[in-house]
Amino acid sequence: MDCVFCKIVSGEIPAKIVYEDEQVLAFNDVNPVAPVHVLVIPKKHIVCVDDINSDNKYIIGDIFFTISKVAKKLNLASGYRIINNCKEDGGQTVNHLHFHLLGGKKLGWPGVD
Ligand code: 5GP
Ligand code: ZN
Repeated sequence: MDCVFCKIVSGEIPAKIVYEDEQVLAFNDVNPVAPVHVLVIPKKHIVCVDDINSDNKYIIGDIFFTISKVAKKLNLASGYRIINNCKEDGGQTVNHLHFHLLGGKKLGWPGVD
């Protein structure tokens, strides 16, 4: 499958890994928009939130648990933002479910245009 994030999971494309377990991978975004910009993904290919179902919904809990661990590891005690872009109008450019973890500075809001 021609999916850049599946290739990061398999090691075919290198990435700076910040957390990994059996189900979830977290790595630095190649084009950071904040001092901390980590992407948290399921290792299994899921396209977007539309594809969450009763069989795979547990992964969302695993991903958010991972985010809490990564936030502590990267000293984001003063706060951070989690973003998920879903499909074309949401601005999704990589069609493998991912959550952006942004932090390391006071972030502006709302950040939509
Ligand atoms: P989206 O726009 O789909 O919500 O976010 C995709 C993110 O993936 C972007 O922030 C982009 O910089 C990041 N990205 C795209 N290709 C790669 C890659 O090969 N390696 C890494 N580490 N990040 C990538
Ligand atoms: Zn994939």
